[in-house]
Amino acid sequence: MSNWYPRWRWTTISISLALLLIPLHLPSPFGKSQWASTASAAQKKPSTKKKNDRTEAEGTLRDYFSPHFLVHTDLSAEEAEDLLKRLETMIKLVSGYWGRPCRQTIECYVVKDLENWPKDAFPAAALDSLESGGGLTMTTVVTNGNDFQAKATVYAVADRGTPQHEAVHAYCGQSFGTTGPTWYSEGMAEMGNYWNENDHSVNAAEIVIRYIRESEPKSLNEIVNSNERTGDSWQNYAWRWALCHLLEHNPNYRERFRPLGLGFLTKQKVSFEQVYGSMADEISFEYLFFLNHLEAGYRVDLCAWDWKPKFRVLRGTRGQNVKVSAAKGWQPTRVLVDEESTYACEAAGEWSVDAEGAMLTADGNDAGSGRLIGVVMDDYKLSDEFELGAEVTFTVPQSGQLYVRCRDGWGEIADNKGTLAVKIKLADNEAKGGKSVSSITEEESND
Ligand SMILES: [Zn+2]
Repeated sequence: MSNWYPRWRWTTISISLALLLIPLHLPSPFGKSQWASTASAAQKKPSTKKKNDRTEAEGTLRDYFSPHFLVHTDLSAEEAEDLLKRLETMIKLVSGYWGRPCRQTIECYVVKDLENWPKDAFPAAALDSLESGGGLTMTTVVTNGNDFQAKATVYAVADRGTPQHEAVHAYCGQSFGTTGPTWYSEGMAEMGNYWNENDHSVNAAEIVIRYIRESEPKSLNEIVNSNERTGDSWQNYAWRWALCHLLEHNPNYRERFRPLGLGFLTKQKVSFEQVYGSMADEISFEYLFFLNHLEAGYRVDLCAWDWKPKFRVLRGTRGQNVKVSAAKGWQPTRVLVDEESTYACEAAGEWSVDAEGAMLTADGNDAGSGRLIGVVMDDYKLSDEFELGAEVTFTVPQSGQLYVRCRDGWGEIADNKGTLAVKIKLADNEAKGGKSVSSITEEESND
């Protein structure tokens, strides 16, 4: 089961020596002199170029370099240059994110087919990873007090984003001398693998999304506090990615996430509990909600829960007005609803849920899309959702806080347009002081 998907690994060899820096030379199929000349060339040339002048043939080993990478590979020239482009884009994003430039070339061995490589091309641990279809980043860190010198070498199979994943480890290792705790290190390496500039949507591999949707969710505590090691399984990587994706893209948590990560990387005394402890209930809820609704295109930022509004019980004929956007997840109405009561919902305006932008009322279209729907939260537990509309009376499946949204696929709400003006009030008989239709009948029969 696990052999057909990469098992990534990461190792650090940490050597602490006073005033002594040891450059690490790992076995190279190209020999030392070639490595040296390629590395110096990499400093000067800004564009991706082939280094070797061997005759081109399928599976030939070559060196390719770009401003931040030196790649030894058996990929074709076209494939290698495409990979370097993706690696450069990724490194620009992650170094911008962590605010530390990538000052040192990242050396990568990227393997399309092991048959093309000499038997002794790789250290044993790296060969192990490559044979199982994954990758390994070996980083030597030499520290002297607060100073450190680090050299990372990436070994990765060419596909499934493995070189990008490993290159994030290499960047962290070389720039910070550490990659942080396993959940953060692996979660962020997967983030780097999937990162698109200015795109907050979920674009994880389909198998990762399916695995998460079909599995019993792994708890936050299990992810953050487990002693699981790096390279354990792609399934564990999926949970770590999901947590990092949520914390980085959800406006409720993202402001604290980058400082937490930088704290890990600069070896400050920080912890997940210390930073997010006061929001534990909200994070746990949103984390599970994210896992349960995960699909390609899901927008954590648009589906974030708004925890600030105060909710109140409705009295008399005065209702509660609220603006509801088509391009957001569940939105608070500020109304505390009671399962014994009947309510009325009036929604004015139009919105759209498809690319053509056909305008719809809160009753939605014939397929049910675009309909105003509701859900009730009680102590971080959600009721089943139920239908509202442009002008309806309704009861609720449980007492609690009423949230509403425009019905659409969870991965498809980003292109929705429009806002409705929604009014929630007690149904007429309730507002006039009656309890419900049946209790009024009782009172009448008592007279
Ligand atoms: Zn990794």
